[in-house]
Amino acid sequence: MTTPILTKAIDIPRAGVEVRNLSKSFGSNHVLQNISMTVKPGSVTALIGPSGSGKSTLLRCINFLEQPDRGTIAVGDTMIDSEKTIRDIELLALRREVGMVFQSFNLFPHMSVLRNIAFPQEKILGRSREEAEERALTLLARVGLKDKANQHPSRCSGGQQQRIAIVRALALNPNAMLFDEPTSALDPEIGLEVLAVMRDLAESGMTMIVVTHEMQFARDVGDHLVVMADGGIIEEGNPAQIMSAPQEERTRRFLNAVL
Ligand code: ADP
Ligand code: MG
Repeated sequence: MTTPILTKAIDIPRAGVEVRNLSKSFGSNHVLQNISMTVKPGSVTALIGPSGSGKSTLLRCINFLEQPDRGTIAVGDTMIDSEKTIRDIELLALRREVGMVFQSFNLFPHMSVLRNIAFPQEKILGRSREEAEERALTLLARVGLKDKANQHPSRCSGGQQQRIAIVRALALNPNAMLFDEPTSALDPEIGLEVLAVMRDLAESGMTMIVVTHEMQFARDVGDHLVVMADGGIIEEGNPAQIMSAPQEERTRRFLNAVL
């Protein structure tokens, strides 16, 4: 895939993501400790770090799937201070800004591929069924899966299901996309077709935060690399630079394990 296949299918407004002094505990487990992170509009941040370091929790706090204890989250023009009373309308606005893709696809098993993509547009954006399904078909065609529209997800391979999950998120016109280990559940060669779609999306100008162990993707597609350990950011900067000359011993150990 050499030309950005998604570029013409979606109009990408390029919002930045700004996390300020974010903290989150589960009981006495201080999972995120005063995290601040800036993701420039249209850039790709790769987020790496050992299991349990808080990467998923950070992503989930950005769209308030988890309520942070402290800190502010801003995506585009929408900003929420977790310590103030949060109005539903603000929460909805923030969630509309960001699309999320999980490791485990999370497609609705009882719906066709087409309905999986159209239904959220109808529910969340109030689009007509016709408009939502038309958009779903356009996007499915862009990722080479139009012929799967009337099948159930169980009839699709893991790589196809993950591309469908990406399309489902994109159909809601997010200004930024969060990916939580999107290829970890896939065989390496199947993962490549998902990474190709993500690379294409990045080239289209989408703002992305990608939790991943795919170091080649992080180096080639990432504009910025953030390394987490024990609930904090221990190192960040240019991906190639950090991978070739990590400043922190813990970064070095992590890279040795995954590279
Ligand atoms: P990572 O994605 O880097 O592997 P996570 O964010 O999933 O890390 O987890 C960080 C820590 O937070 C772990 O100790 C995990 O057990 C804990 N944790 C995550 N989610 C919950 C939850 N809903 N309830 C209690 N503890 C949680
Ligand atoms: Mg995780």
